[in-house]
Amino acid sequence: MKFVVGNYKMQLTSRETSALVRGVLHGLNPVVVLPEIIICPSFTALPDVQKLIKKTPLNLGAQNVAATPLGAYTGEVAAAQLADIGCTYTIIGHSERRAVGGTPPFAKGGETDAQVHAKITEALAAGLTPIICVGESAAERAAGQTDAVITHQITSAITGISFPRKTPCIIAYEPIWAISTNEQPQLATIHDIVEAHSLIRRLLVGLGLAIDDIAVLYGGSVDALNAQEILSNPEVDGVLVGSASLKIHEFSAIIEAAITAMKVISV
Ligand code: PEP
Repeated sequence: MKFVVGNYKMQLTSRETSALVRGVLHGLNPVVVLPEIIICPSFTALPDVQKLIKKTPLNLGAQNVAATPLGAYTGEVAAAQLADIGCTYTIIGHSERRAVGGTPPFAKGGETDAQVHAKITEALAAGLTPIICVGESAAERAAGQTDAVITHQITSAITGISFPRKTPCIIAYEPIWAISTNEQPQLATIHDIVEAHSLIRRLLVGLGLAIDDIAVLYGGSVDALNAQEILSNPEVDGVLVGSASLKIHEFSAIIEAAITAMKVISV
């Protein structure tokens, strides 16, 4: 199985989001085995998208979740509230959140490792599958700290959490330097991706997790042109797509690439 996650970020109104999702649904080929497609719109659009995708193969994910259960936390959205409106996934620890906009009770600045850990706990308690983002900055990469950063992020996120056996979590390796909206993004090579994914799998094994059940995705400037190469690599279980998920033809082409990769791998 391959995964294709669309992270719409804070880019669209609800009406625009619905139009985009209708386009994605229209482009789906009903006669093939599809990848797991997860649409992550803004909180405001979640109910509308849920109505649109009910009884379709698309799945609903949030872009963030509170680090606490329901309570007096103005402006936060709890995992239980997301599950209540039909979310089955939530992104946690995206680099844009780790960099800015921390929320109580842990962070003053960007989202901390402790907060990411708490969010994973909350998501699992509500039955959501966390999509945990990790990845190093350009400066960390230049300083040769890629492995150390990934190791720290995975270990601090996961240690001490008891995961369900079935779809415990998804890890998305998203090197910050490759994210298309960042300054001077660079394309990660397949070698970069495979190295990081292998490290992540080794870390998960070391933490006692059954890695066959954990998908490891890549995110960073994935588009219609590079999706096939990335998705056809057996180390890559799927892609997390930002900018290209906002363009129907790009996102549909990425889904097609995942379908092709699944066919090749199953042959
Ligand atoms: C992201 O920010 O999660 C992302 C992968 O963005 P993009 O695809 O635009 O690089």
